[in-house]
Amino acid sequence: MDDLELLIDLHRDGERQGPGGADETRLAIALSGLAGAKGLKVADIGCGSGASTLVLAQELDASITAVDLLPDFLARLEKSAERMGLAGRIETLATSMEALPFEDQSLDAIWSEGAIYNMGFETGIRAWRRFLKPEGILAVSELTWLTHARPAPLERHWTQEYAEVGTASAKIAVLEANGYSLLGYFALPKRCWTDSYYRPLQERFAAFLSRHGHSAAAQAIVESEAKEIALYERYSDFVGYGYYVARRTPD
Ligand code: SAH
Repeated sequence: MDDLELLIDLHRDGERQGPGGADETRLAIALSGLAGAKGLKVADIGCGSGASTLVLAQELDASITAVDLLPDFLARLEKSAERMGLAGRIETLATSMEALPFEDQSLDAIWSEGAIYNMGFETGIRAWRRFLKPEGILAVSELTWLTHARPAPLERHWTQEYAEVGTASAKIAVLEANGYSLLGYFALPKRCWTDSYYRPLQERFAAFLSRHGHSAAAQAIVESEAKEIALYERYSDFVGYGYYVARRTPD
């Protein structure tokens, strides 16, 4: 197995592949004003095994296209959707977020939790805008500085890993400069990282290592995840995920 296959193997059985929570998806839905609308068309981009997709399908009268690069995650989502009686509302699509096949102005909403960083926040919101109907909704969560200034080691780490990390006000300015108007912003609470994402991930480490005979590659992956967890635990007052809910503005 190569590194990507190992990473998939570690993350496939998680309920989510990034920080978040059902209550927070619901809060974003409330901010979007979409509750109560009928026959919505929604895309959930970089959906992983579908933590947010399943909430969207429960809460909205919508047909949802769940997009991810990795078919393994989509297969998990399909199973969960079946089990929860939501399969009729969800269609999966294995493709890149950089080559989405949607028609212009065809979607009422684009959702994306913890995934837009793969193409970059600004590139992503610019590329996806044309798929939204006039006044369509964009709801994305994105790595965000929670304070005006922060400790140097933390700043160094994230600037190197993800140069676009920024404060909420900077991200909102990027949204406004690219044809969106903010409806609401909130920062994910810490438990969305610890209880919902990191703890279940840590609990999978031992079985993952033994599945792969404690290979050097498997150990390196666990070490790198453990390092990220330690960094988050140390600096969680300064960095987190911001959830941005915005509306497409007229051209
Ligand atoms: N939204 C999910 C998953 C977040 S992890 C959750 O919150 O649990 C990021 C996801 O983006 C992964 O599932 C990964 O497979 C997917 N991804 C990475 N690069 C991608 C790309 N270029 N196009 C589509 N999906 C991508």
